[in-house]
Amino acid sequence: MDKKCQSRKKNGDACGADAQSGRALCVFHDPARANDGRRARRTGGLNRTRIAAVLPSDTPDHPFGSSKDVCNLLGDSINRLRRGELDPRVANATGYLASVLLRALEQCPLEERVAKLETLLVLDSNGSFSASDNLSIPRKIHPRTGSGSNQGDDR
Ligand SMILES: [Zn+2]
Repeated sequence: MDKKCQSRKKNGDACGADAQSGRALCVFHDPARANDGRRARRTGGLNRTRIAAVLPSDTPDHPFGSSKDVCNLLGDSINRLRRGELDPRVANATGYLASVLLRALEQCPLEERVAKLETLLVLDSNGSFSASDNLSIPRKIHPRTGSGSNQGDDR
């Protein structure tokens, strides 16, 4: 049968923990093992309180104008992560946000083209597009003005 630890708790009760085999004390009360416990507690504490590795607060903003910029950020983050200069949680969040940013950047050229088209076309009250005054090319889209090529429709 395993023996119980012969040491006593601070309140005087018997420890009650199993003694180490061949010894009269448990690992927690054995002075020879005390350093092990201290070391384990210290390591645990250090891991918990270790400040997350992040870039200094005066790091300039990274450009995000193009997908190439975002790719550069990702590459830089991966390198820093591998060197232990970037906390994995920060790297994870960066990766997620970068993927959102890449999708947004894919949308931007489309939106810019639509906006450009909207400056060239005017939506009239009939829901038809007509060329605005900004359009320098010959008019090809005619609103229903009753003139020009639409005249035949009125007969
Ligand atoms: Zn004990």
